[in-house]
Amino acid sequence: MCGKLIIISGFSGSGKGTIVKEIFKRSNDFCLSISATTRSMRKGEREGVSYFFVTKDKFEEMIKNNELLEFAKYIDNYYGTPKKYVLDRLNEGKNVILEIEIQGALQIKKICKDSILIFIIPPNAKSLYDRLKKRGTETDEMIESRLKKAIVEAEDIKNYDYVLVNDNIDNVINDFFKILSDEYKNAIDVDVIINKILSDIKNNYY
Ligand code: 5GP
Repeated sequence: MCGKLIIISGFSGSGKGTIVKEIFKRSNDFCLSISATTRSMRKGEREGVSYFFVTKDKFEEMIKNNELLEFAKYIDNYYGTPKKYVLDRLNEGKNVILEIEIQGALQIKKICKDSILIFIIPPNAKSLYDRLKKRGTETDEMIESRLKKAIVEAEDIKNYDYVLVNDNIDNVINDFFKILSDEYKNAIDVDVIINKILSDIKNNYY
């Protein structure tokens, strides 16, 4: 028996981390893949829980040894999904969630057509900016890079199977479980929301 591979992506500050935590609170049917990264640890993060924090040399060795299911460079750092954990859990019949960015998600879709790609967007640009600012872990310059990155990433959202607007955590979680049980019906025009967010980022945040 093979579990489902679920990819959750979203702009930095879209609240996808909170959504993933909430899914785990509400169900025991999922495992979370812990990624490897070369970025430095933020306040409050823990080795082997938030990420496996590795050096650039170690990350490149993992790539060479084919230990990663996918990897990508995001802003200035490498991020990648260790292969063994994910494949073992799927073979045990567990559903595995990867919280990863777009380039990695598209690599996964290529090798696993049955994977489910979900992209989380915030309701507006202000909530994106406010979440990044409130997190207090990034400088203004880093926040600006992340907002700029959102504009580039928006190009690839069309390749996702589902786009969910994070205006209310309960609604997003309900939609998530509906997607898994094939009952989800999209009732909103996400393109309109995405275009508004992007123009607001360009006009107001840099
Ligand atoms: P952060 O630095 O905010 O923790 O993560 C930056 C971005 O990297 C986020 O969009 C996050 O989802 C993504 N990310 C985290 N782990 C992985 C991974 O293993 N592979 C890829 N491709 N992206 C990842």
